Amino acid sequence: MLDPVAGRIVPNPVVVVSGDRIQSVGGNPPAGAATIDLGDLTLLPGLVDAHTHNLLQPDDEVTPPILTKSQAYRAIEGVAAARKNLDAGFTTMRDLDSEGAGFADVALRDAISKGVVPGPRLLVATYALTITAGHMNNAGFNPDIALPEPATLTDSRDAMIAEIRREVKYGADWIKLYATGTLRHVNRETLEPLAQVSLDEVKAVVAEAARWRKDVAAHAYGGAGARNAVEGGVRSIEHGWILDEDLLKLMVQKGTYWCPTLSVFRPEAGLETPTEFSRRVVESHKRTFQNAMKLGVKIVFGTDVGAFPHGTSNREFSYMVEYGMSPLEAIRSATVRAAELLRMDKEIGSIAPGRFADLIAVQGDPLQNIEAIKKVRFVMKGGDVFKHD
Ligand SMILES: [Zn+2]
Repeated sequence: MLDPVAGRIVPNPVVVVSGDRIQSVGGNPPAGAATIDLGDLTLLPGLVDAHTHNLLQPDDEVTPPILTKSQAYRAIEGVAAARKNLDAGFTTMRDLDSEGAGFADVALRDAISKGVVPGPRLLVATYALTITAGHMNNAGFNPDIALPEPATLTDSRDAMIAEIRREVKYGADWIKLYATGTLRHVNRETLEPLAQVSLDEVKAVVAEAARWRKDVAAHAYGGAGARNAVEGGVRSIEHGWILDEDLLKLMVQKGTYWCPTLSVFRPEAGLETPTEFSRRVVESHKRTFQNAMKLGVKIVFGTDVGAFPHGTSNREFSYMVEYGMSPLEAIRSATVRAAELLRMDKEIGSIAPGRFADLIAVQGDPLQNIEAIKKVRFVMKGGDVFKHD
């Protein structure tokens, strides 16, 4: 068993599960208990991907799903995605907006938690807050045609506050804010992202979310938009491929978490043919990652899966290690550290009495070779076995 808290391998562990929780670790199994012998596999806590889109599929990167797919169809795709992600060892996911599938993420979360369909525990963001002409606002269409939008256009502080209330009403666990634009808004020369929010707006969003006891995740590449997000008190910065050292230091000071989502920017994600620009983005991401590690930013495992095939989130571990993180730290980022971000560290992220019985087993020792974490042979979530090869 790999204990990510202590950072060591425990030989021949015994984990006693009762109902959906871990009862004890170590000692002997109680008399008469049903046993599952996992042989020489390595046992770990269930993994957490803190930036996912179960309602988004890779083909949606080609054709905007808001224009071509019904929400019912997208929900069905989400059911299939959730199963693949669970099979890959991810027992919890923070699903950072439905990308235009409305409140289908709430439906998927609830259907999973009621046992209607298998999948990870989901924390969902429903719609995201953006601005007119910003990220996730349909671009390039006839202005005379009214189109549904994949995110909510909130062009003022008041509109942002009202939208948060609507999202909370219909089941949001997290609030997602687009604090910078997307790649099409990035200055090709300077790599300066588009800032979408002012400090005052971020403060208003964070305060309104806090009223409902919700946290805010900000899509932010860098620059002024990212700075406003951090200063304004969001809990996590998403992507952040061009965060400078001053901002990284401020994140350390304020305790802001960072989900790098290295995977989605890598050419292997297949989103676009590599260009000089995309190579510079990846280069900057790597540099930011290494600076963040050096400065002690709280890095949490997050991938943006959905933009690339579901069930392949664990590719992120390889990139983190390639960029210089130890396998142990990479695994911590997807267990104990992620649980902290989600304020669920008493529930998930470690193998200890009282935690949910979210356990996976992989072939090989991922501390020796991180690739072992891709060989998931066993998945238990809340005491139920979902995979046992
Ligand atoms: Zn995303």
